[in-house]
Amino acid sequence: MEGGVVYAGVIIDQAHPSLDRVFHYIIPPELRERVQVGMRVQVPFGTSNRMVEGYVVRLDTAADVPDDKIKAIDSVLDDYPVLPQSMIPLIGWMKEEYHCLSIEAIRCMIPPGLRANVKKKAQKLVFLNDYGDVVEERIDHIARKSKYMTDVLRLLAQQDGIPLEEVRAVTGAPLSSIKSLEKRGWIRIEQQEVYRNPWDYEPDTGVQPKALTDEQRSAIETLEAALIRGCGKFLLQGVTGSGKTEVYIQAAQKALALNKQVIVLVPEISLTPQTVERFKSHFGQRVAILHSGLSLGERYDEWRRIRNQQVDVVVGARSAIFAPFERLGLIIVDEAHEDSYKSDMQPRYHAVGVARKRCELEGAVLLLGSATPSLTDYYLAEKGMYKTIKMKHRVDHRPLPPVEIVDMRKEIELGNRSILSGALYRALADVLQKGEQAILLLNRRGYAQFVSCRSCGFVVKCHNCDISLTYHAYDKTLKCHYCGASYPYPNVCPGCGSKYIKHFGIGTQRAEEEIKKLFPQARIIRMDMDTTSTKGAHQRILRAFGEGKYDILLGTQMIAKGLDFPRVTLVGVIAADTSLHLPDYRSSEKAFQLITQVAGRAGRGPRGGRVIIQTYQPQHYAIQFAARHDYVGFYSREIEIRRQFLYPPFSHIIRILMMDEKEEDLIRLAIDTRDWLKQRIDGSPVLKQGLIDVGAYSAPLERINNRYRWQVLIRIRPDDIYKQAYHRLMDECLERLMGVKETTIVDFYPLSLL
Ligand code: ADP
Ligand code: ZN
Ligand code: ZN
Repeated sequence: MEGGVVYAGVIIDQAHPSLDRVFHYIIPPELRERVQVGMRVQVPFGTSNRMVEGYVVRLDTAADVPDDKIKAIDSVLDDYPVLPQSMIPLIGWMKEEYHCLSIEAIRCMIPPGLRANVKKKAQKLVFLNDYGDVVEERIDHIARKSKYMTDVLRLLAQQDGIPLEEVRAVTGAPLSSIKSLEKRGWIRIEQQEVYRNPWDYEPDTGVQPKALTDEQRSAIETLEAALIRGCGKFLLQGVTGSGKTEVYIQAAQKALALNKQVIVLVPEISLTPQTVERFKSHFGQRVAILHSGLSLGERYDEWRRIRNQQVDVVVGARSAIFAPFERLGLIIVDEAHEDSYKSDMQPRYHAVGVARKRCELEGAVLLLGSATPSLTDYYLAEKGMYKTIKMKHRVDHRPLPPVEIVDMRKEIELGNRSILSGALYRALADVLQKGEQAILLLNRRGYAQFVSCRSCGFVVKCHNCDISLTYHAYDKTLKCHYCGASYPYPNVCPGCGSKYIKHFGIGTQRAEEEIKKLFPQARIIRMDMDTTSTKGAHQRILRAFGEGKYDILLGTQMIAKGLDFPRVTLVGVIAADTSLHLPDYRSSEKAFQLITQVAGRAGRGPRGGRVIIQTYQPQHYAIQFAARHDYVGFYSREIEIRRQFLYPPFSHIIRILMMDEKEEDLIRLAIDTRDWLKQRIDGSPVLKQGLIDVGAYSAPLERINNRYRWQVLIRIRPDDIYKQAYHRLMDECLERLMGVKETTIVDFYPLSLL
C-alpha cells in the first residue's frame, strides 16, 4: 500500500437507500499491508457498533470524518479482493444507470455463496520436503525400521502432492506413520481447496477444427484485428445455420492466444445445451459454466475458479456478464435480441448494456450475434454504433428452408376447425411416414389476450396508438395500455360484420391431445412450462428428441432457439398470430424474430426441410418478411412505423411501476406522481424539450398476487442529454416516493410494459 493511505472507503452490505454511500474507515496499522480495493471487510456500524460486512471501493489519504470520530476496520474477510479493481467503476455506473443501490450492484458481482459463507471444500495433500538423492538416503535409512514409512516415501518420490486419503489407501500406512514422517521434517501435509465440479470438463480431443466458410473466415479476421486493437463493437448478423457458434469459438480462441479472457452469454443455459457442449469440448478445463441450476456451493466454486484466474472462458446466462475476469478481451452475446438478457429483478440491468460498459472500461471487444437483431441494435449499427458483420449463407450451401403460409380463415370456410390446416396435416403425415422429425411451435405468449375475427383476421386496435387492445374478462371491455382508452367488446367484427370475433388462444396440452387424435401412432414430446419444471428436464427432452425417440417436438417459444437437429425436416407454426398482437410496440418485431428463429430449425441436415406457418393474417408484413427470410425488408418497414408513432429507437420510454393492495390509494399516488413530474418538467427547459409525453395508466397485468398495478410512462427524445436530465429526475422521484411507497420500481430501460 502506498504511503499516506490510511483510510478505506467502504460500501456497507445493507440494502437501504439511506445507507447507500461510501463510509470512511481508518485502516489499523496491522491491516495496512493487507487491505486492498475490492476486498470484503468487517466493520463496526451504527451507534451500537454491531459488526457488518462491507466492500472497500477506494483507498484515501484523507477522510470526511474527523480522526477522533472515525471507526476502524475490524478485519479482512478473504485473502484476495473479491471484486477485481477493473470492475469497481461499474458499481457507480450501475447505480446511476439502473437506479439501484451500490450494494445491489455489488451483489450482482459476487456469488450468493460468498455472503452466505458456504464452506470451502478442502482436502489434505502430502508433499515431500526435499527431492533427489536425499530421499534415497532417507529411504535406505528407514527401510528396516518401517515398511509403511518407506512405502510412503517411495510413493511420493514417484508422484508428489497426493491426497492424504490416497496415500493411506495405496500404502496401507496408518496415520501415525505419516505423522512421524512429518515430525522428522521429511514431508508436509497441506490443506488445499478443491472445487465442486458441476460439469465433466474433459475436452473432446476428437473434434476436428472445421474448414471455415469464406464468411466465417472473414468474420474471424475482422474480430482478431479488433482484439489486437483492444476495442470494437460488432453486430454479427448471420442467418440461422450460418455457423455463428463456430465464429464465437474461434474468436474466443484468438482472444486466448492474446492472453485475454472471454465471456460468452447465452439466453438460457438449459435451452442451449448444444452450444454449451461445443464450448466445453473446445476449451475443456479452461471454461466455466454458470447457470441458475447450480447449487449455491457449485456456483461459489465456479466463481472462485474464475476469480483465481484458473479459467479463461465463461459461458453463462445473463448474470455471467459479471464474471470477475481481470484480463477481459471479448464479450460474446449469442441471440443478442433475446429479452432474457434483461433482469426482471432489482437491479434491472440489461446484460448487453453492462457488456458495452465493461468493454469500454476494460478494453474489450463486444460481439452481438443474432439472425434477427433487435430493431434498435440494427438501427444503432446503421448509425455507426456497431460495425456490422454479415453471414448470409448457410454452411455447406444448404438453402434456407422454403416457407409456406397457410391462411387459417380459408380453413374455417372449408369447415376445418382442427388446429391443423390441411397442408400441415399432410406434411406431418409425410414426415411420419418417412421416419423423419418435426417441430411444432405453439406460441402461448399473449394467450387469450387480443381479440380477432376468425373470418377476416381483423384485430381490434386502439385508434390513438395502433396497438392491439387487451381483453379484460372481468368487465368484458377492451383496453389500450398505452393511452388508457377503453372500448366495448364488439359483438360483430368491425371489419367484415361476421360474428366469429373473439379473444384468441389455445394451450399446448390441448394441442397435443388434438394431434394425438389425428396421428395416434406418432410419438409426441411436449416442451412447455408444465413439462420443464423439474431440474434437467429441458436437456432430457431435447436429448430424447435428438436421439430419435420421438417424432414430434411440440412446444412453446422455448423450442425456437439454437437447436440443431439435422433430422428435422418440418417446422410448423400452429398460430403465428398470437405474438402479433400483444399490447406492445414490439409485437411485430417479436413475431418476426420468433418465426424466423423457429423456421431456422428446419433443413439443417442433408434431407433439407420446409416450414409451414398457420395464421389468420397471412398478409401481415411480419409474417410475409419472415417467410421470405428477409430481415432487411422487415426492418425497413418496421422502422418507419416506429418513426411515425415515435416508438423506440425514436423515443426512450421510462416506466415507473407502482403496486398496492388498495386500488384507490394506488390510483391517487400514480396520478399525483404524474402531476408532480409534469410540474417539474414544466419548470426545466431541458426536461421540457426532451419530453414527448407522460401519463399514468393501469398496467396491462392489472393485479398480481392481489396487488393492483399502475404505471407512469414517460416518453422522451432518445438523446443522451435528455436521458441524463431524466436520470436525475428519476432519482428525485424515487427519493420523493421512498417514504410513501416502497414497492415503486423505476425502470429506465423497460422491455416489457405489462
Ligand atoms: P447458427 O448458430 O448460425 O444457426 P451453427 O453455429 O449452429 O449455426 O452451425 C450450424 C451447423 O453447421 C452446426 O451443426 C455446425 O456444427 C455446422 N458448422 C458450422 N461451421 C461449419 C463449417 N465451417 N463447416 C462445416 N460445418 C459447420
Ligand atoms: Zn391507445
Ligand atoms: Zn371480420
